[in-house]
Amino acid sequence: MSFDPDFMKIRGILKDHHEYWSNAIPLIASENLTTPAVREAAISDLAHRYAEGWIGERVYPGNQYFDEIEEICLKLLKDLFDAPFVDARPISGVVANLTVYTAFTKANDKMMAISIPVGGHISSGPLKAKSGGFIGGTAGAVSRLNVDYIPFDRYGLNIDVDAAIKAIREKKPRLVQLGASVFLFPHPVKELAPVAHEIDAHMNYDAAHVAGLIAAKQFQDPLREGTDTMTMSTHKTFPGPQKGIVIASRDELAEIIKSAAFPGMTSNHHLMHVAGLAIAAAEFKKFGKPYSKQVIVNAKALGQALYERGFQVVCPEKGFTESHTILVDISNFQNTIGLGADVEQRLEKAQIVANRNLLPWDILEKRHYKNPGGIRIGTQEITRLGMKEQEMIRIAELMKAVIVDQKEPTEVAEAVAEFRADFQSIHYGFESTLKAYEYIEIA
Ligand SMILES: *Cc1c(COP(=O)(O)O)cnc(C)c1O
Repeated sequence: MSFDPDFMKIRGILKDHHEYWSNAIPLIASENLTTPAVREAAISDLAHRYAEGWIGERVYPGNQYFDEIEEICLKLLKDLFDAPFVDARPISGVVANLTVYTAFTKANDKMMAISIPVGGHISSGPLKAKSGGFIGGTAGAVSRLNVDYIPFDRYGLNIDVDAAIKAIREKKPRLVQLGASVFLFPHPVKELAPVAHEIDAHMNYDAAHVAGLIAAKQFQDPLREGTDTMTMSTHKTFPGPQKGIVIASRDELAEIIKSAAFPGMTSNHHLMHVAGLAIAAAEFKKFGKPYSKQVIVNAKALGQALYERGFQVVCPEKGFTESHTILVDISNFQNTIGLGADVEQRLEKAQIVANRNLLPWDILEKRHYKNPGGIRIGTQEITRLGMKEQEMIRIAELMKAVIVDQKEPTEVAEAVAEFRADFQSIHYGFESTLKAYEYIEIA
């Protein structure tokens, strides 16, 4: 053991981070917890290795065991998603999308997706010129696609089907991408896939947020509804390591996706996370359904509990959500607490972690993404801590104390830690004595 001050300091901060999270209420919709078995894979020797290429045709030697692992990983994922082909080499959801853009489009092609203010993700955003250079979303800035928007019903929080059919026929994009980062209700894949195919467009469904719910058959079934490919992060509702995958609806698409993934979008493909993903998939096969059902039940229950306590949760008439996410319009607290950034900060001080988010109508009301009118909440991580409907009421009360009743956040933080004390282990995974946020000391 070294007593170098920086070495000691960094490890101390890491421990503090773990301590903070074990006493906090984690409500970020894009995060989740991995089980001890998945964490073990992450610190295995695979974290030091390269493979490159496909199983059995690697560019690097030394992969006899890893080949077996990736084979199992792909088999489990194909089973879970009921798909003929999966590529698990993209290192994140953005890279999975880039793999699809690379495989099925060329520069200057038109792509249609929902816009960021209504819940779209930056990876489907357009190119922007700025101070002598070019920035923007991945589709525009990296793949040089011309991004156009799928018409969206702002207040119904979903794609406007009739207007979208018309727009796709009129604009004739090369790629239509569905999916979102504020994803409350299933997208109209069944209605739009035939229209995309009629104009020879490729359809991709970005399942980054809802992958776990889809694998558990609790949201929608994009492959059967007509999408050509599906991309995802493996660490949002799907409780795996931070990675991405591309799924094809039919075998003919496999070769082009493989070439786009390597040598197109990856060299190293983070082998330790392929192993972790295999373990997460094996766990999901056993526990995925009850977990996903409870995630959605909890989201609806938290929506209702917050709504009853003075929070303007969007879409009450639609039961708030059919996924893990609820969106809360916090503009009624503008004169007491402030907007999204202030609410986020105040909650964070109380150890309740949820992020500010644009509401679909924020831009119309001249609100900006840095201080928007909403916060986004996800129930997947708290569900994995074993929380159920009763706990959703408790969380709503704690949030009410900080925001509606304007109690001192640091005082509420004590109540939060006390509440959290009973929820320290991970549910829906193979048994282990390691606590959910336990720091693993090896050195
Ligand atoms: C999170 C997200 C991604 C990107 O995933 P990373 O794994 O963070 O790269 C892509 N698309 C959507 C819709 C997302 O919400």
